Formats: sequence, structure tokens, C-alpha cells
Amino acid sequence: MSLKDQILAVNEAAAGAAVVARLQRELGDDIVKGPEEADFARHSQDFTNRMEEGLRLPGIAYPRTTEQVSRILALCHAEGFPVTPQGGLTGLAGGAVPVVPSLILSMERMRGVEALDPVGRTITVQAGTVLETVQKAAEEAGFFFPLDLGGRGTAQVGGNASTNAGGNRVLRYGMMRDLVLGLEAVLADGTVVTSLNSMMKNNAGYDLKHLFIGSEGTLGVITRLVLRLYPRPRSVSTALLAADDFGQVLKLLREAGEAFAGSLSAFELMWPEFYALGTTALGRQSPLPHEYGVYVLVETLGTDPERDPARFEEVIAGMLETGLLRDAVIAQSDRQRQDLWAIRDCPGEFPKVHWPQLSFDVSLPAARIGDFVPFIRERLHARWPGMVMVFFGHLADSNLHLSVRLDEGMPEHEIDEVVYGAVGEWGGSVSAEHGIGMLKRAYLHHSRTPQELALMRLLKDSLDPKGILNPGKVI
Ligand code: ZN
Repeated sequence: MSLKDQILAVNEAAAGAAVVARLQRELGDDIVKGPEEADFARHSQDFTNRMEEGLRLPGIAYPRTTEQVSRILALCHAEGFPVTPQGGLTGLAGGAVPVVPSLILSMERMRGVEALDPVGRTITVQAGTVLETVQKAAEEAGFFFPLDLGGRGTAQVGGNASTNAGGNRVLRYGMMRDLVLGLEAVLADGTVVTSLNSMMKNNAGYDLKHLFIGSEGTLGVITRLVLRLYPRPRSVSTALLAADDFGQVLKLLREAGEAFAGSLSAFELMWPEFYALGTTALGRQSPLPHEYGVYVLVETLGTDPERDPARFEEVIAGMLETGLLRDAVIAQSDRQRQDLWAIRDCPGEFPKVHWPQLSFDVSLPAARIGDFVPFIRERLHARWPGMVMVFFGHLADSNLHLSVRLDEGMPEHEIDEVVYGAVGEWGGSVSAEHGIGMLKRAYLHHSRTPQELALMRLLKDSLDPKGILNPGKVI
């Protein structure tokens, strides 16, 4: 460290300590913890990313009310001291991991359901409420909150909104953006913007909630949300299907969309290498043989438990007859349904069979995904012969996941550059559902024009002129 850097670091540490001391005087040391009491280990990593070693944090704030969030931000803004907002820390792009000395703003104490409106079909919750709690509250009232993802027991809905989370039911219900009707957010200078709209239709000027949804805490901190509820599904039908090639899968997507109308809720594509990892490699039985070109997990959520299963079987039988499908297995019990999903959800078990790995979450126009897979495989193999990679994704959402096993001599950033460069050339997006966070910031330009980036910068500078909100993320 140069002398100048050392002086800067000392000044920064002093500024951080002063901010924490003042906040402790104003709000109490139960709300704001200094370095002696703060559990930095728990707050310095998300699902896959860790804070850089040696980064010194001054403290952690656990506000209980919007007003406290406002006072914390107002003071940090006045002092020009950075803040890293955090939800349940289940993100995959490092959006909540501090990258500069900053005050951690944890939303975990702002939890609870405030209201549920059965007529308007909305639920109003605090941002730190755990996703599963919202799902259960909806269910107890006879409704359904459709957002669902692996981290449901830890993820907070405020974080789901600020990262615009996706998951396994996007095809039918949309991403988190589509499930938020209104919200309250605190701006960098402490201004509270309460925009708790609960109506489906509201065209009274700019839709401000979208500034905060998907912007990963860089434009404001979400404190409360009004979420949409749906009728509770009464039947679920699940099948694993096999087809010859991607062309057949596109036909299958269209036919399944028509035959199941609005009830199709999952269409999960798996290439053979992925299917092998999720079955034999993990010591599981294979519900279908390994000889097929491509595998698809489909699920429908219906309202008629008497007739839906028969209809589901009939449609699939018809597809086998016409040759669109080569093979199929339909879950006959909840247990079988879970077993089929376990294959699709096997990335959670990659540490046992496919590790270390580098994963990608990208979007491409759905019709082009079939050509992109062999293209990127060839491009990566040209550079790293023998590289092991698997492909899977939410085809109907244009979302492709690629996981590359990292063997010796495979530098991550070079692989990133090859994949994101190709995604850009093909008109895709470098982030489909995980966000930009700190991980993909350098690659944002592959899927955004200079004009788009300039507008993002303009918004950031207007809303957060001192750059205190989640620095080092997104833009
Ligand atoms: Zn996914």
C-alpha cells in the first residue's frame, strides 16, 4: 500500500467510526452495532460471493422502521459515507456483498405482514419479510403468492424485488417485477417515497416502483411492498419428456402452450450432459434412458383436481403418438414429482460432482438458444480443449444456464469474456435473472448500448449524487 493509500484508508476508517458513533447516539447501539459487536462474517457473503479479505467495515445497522432507515441514510448522505443494503443474502451476483468500506444496512428486522386484501388480492409486507413467510400467509388466507426459488426460507421479499428475482414459475406468473403493485423506498438522502399502490390500473404519471425493482439497491432502499396474490392452484401435474432435438422442443413449447393454455407453469430444458449429472453421476435412478437429444421438465398448475391429471396424460400421449416426443414419464405421486424436480435442481449438488465450477445466467431469444449452445461449446473448446460444460435453462423465459467446470489453467475472467462477448454478439443479455451485482458489472456493456448506459448513469447521479448507495454494483 502506498503512503497515499494508507492515509486514505486511515481517513476512511475514521469517517466510518464517526458515522457509526453518531448513529449509535441517535438510534441506540441495539440498532447500530460497532466493530466489537457486529457479526461481519455473516454479513460479508451471499450465496456464492465473498467480500475481499482485509476490507474494514465500520458497523452494521438493523433498523426496525422506515423512519430509522431514513435517518441512517440521511446521515450517511450528509457525511458522504457509503452504505451496502442487504436482504437475505441469497443472491448469486454479489449485489449485497460490500466492495468498499461501508455501513451494512440489514433489513432483517423489518419483517411482517401488514395487511391482506382478499378483494383486491394484495398483501402488504415489510421488505425484510422472508419469502416463505409471504407464501404461507397467502396460503393461510386461501391465496397463492407465486414467486418461488431455492432460497425461499432465507430470501427476503425486499431483496427479491430489488434484484427482480425470477425462479421456476416465471413462464406463468412473471418475474418479481410483475408481482409488485406498489412499494415504499428511502432515497439516498433519506427522503421516504411512499408509493404503496394496490390497484391493477394506475397510469398517473411515471411508475416509480420500477426505479427500485431490479436496481439492486443502487437507487434507493425498499422498505415496504404491496404484492399481487393469485388464486390457489388445486392440481399440479408434472412430467419429464424426451425429444430428438431442439427443433422438436420449440414445437413442443408451442403445442404445450396451446394444449395447457394458461396453466403451463414450468418448461425446463436439460441437455444430455446435464441430465447425466442430475441422475447417474449423483447415484440416482434415471427415469428416462440416456439416449435422447434433449429433456424437458413440464409442469401445469390447474384448478380442477378431478379432470386435470387425465387431460395432462391425454396431451402427452398425443405428443408421443405424433412422434413429437420420443419418451415421457408422468409423476404419479408427490414423491415422484419431487424426484423429477431433483434432477432439474441438481446444481445445488454440483459440489459433489461438478466442482469447482463457473456458472452463467444469460438470456437469448428462445428460438436461437438451440444454435447458441453448440456455438459457445465450440468456441470454448477451441480455447480450452476438453472443457467440461453443461447446459440447462428456462426455455420459455429465454433463459439459458451454462455451468463450466473449472480445471487448472482456466482463468475465470477469460471464460467470462468469451461467454459474455458471444452473448452480446447474439443479441442476448448477460444477466437473465441473477442481476449484475459486482460480478457482471464489467460485462454490462455487452448487452446495453452506450445510450442506455448513459441514461442509467444519469438516473444514478440524480438519485444518489454522492454515490453512497451500494457502490461498486450494477453501473
Ligand atoms: Zn434459473
